[in-house]
Amino acid sequence: MNLINTKGFVLKEQTYRENDKIIWVLCENIGKISILAKNAKKSNNSFFSITQPFSLVQFNLKKGRNFYYISDGSLIKNIDFLNFGDQIFHLTYFFELLDIAFSDGYEIDKRFFRFLLNIFLLFEVKEVNKDFIMRIFELRLLKENGYHLEFERCYFCSNKIKGKESYFYFNLQNVVCISCGNLKEFRVENRIINIMRFLCTVNIMNIPKIKISDEDINSIFNLNKVFLEQNLVRMPNSIKFLGGYKKDE
Ligand SMILES: [Zn+2]
Repeated sequence: MNLINTKGFVLKEQTYRENDKIIWVLCENIGKISILAKNAKKSNNSFFSITQPFSLVQFNLKKGRNFYYISDGSLIKNIDFLNFGDQIFHLTYFFELLDIAFSDGYEIDKRFFRFLLNIFLLFEVKEVNKDFIMRIFELRLLKENGYHLEFERCYFCSNKIKGKESYFYFNLQNVVCISCGNLKEFRVENRIINIMRFLCTVNIMNIPKIKISDEDINSIFNLNKVFLEQNLVRMPNSIKFLGGYKKDE
């Protein structure tokens, strides 16, 4: 039987029978898959360490009828919570959002997978503002999921948005000029639009050098939440720990 060599992020797990578990993994090349890992609940089993959620793992897999099965594998990386304990909420959010955004069998773009690897590595860089990288992650995730944000031309009149205005509006995923805007759309400062446009294309490895105020990060979060609500089947529970999601209260 052919083995499939791939690496992937272990998104979540579910107990199956007494000692087995099913894990959902977002893999390079083959996309989101479910793996039935026999005896992986036993701590002395060799699959135990490579089936933990929130880790990056190299797998050799066999494809079965309903599940993939592990032939062997090795842990590439997990985040050290002893030293980086305060990352847990952001990390939970990162994995939960990936799980919700992509359905089983969804094949993700190669470049997007590389982007995810870089985000994962940035969790351990102390100087990096994790709220900031989550905002970039949200924007790129929306794009990968087919949710295209239009910053350049007005949704209604197609006129190019002019840089000299101090604010514009947003209608679903499109910017709206001042003359076409009405109360149905929400108002966004032009400065925030410029930052978001920049974040949609910036090289993630340059992020440690970029400074952005908490207030601006929060403004972008409020917009991203609206976009995510329109795009996702449900909002991640963990968003509550990142602050500001009031809908269920
Ligand atoms: Zn217009």
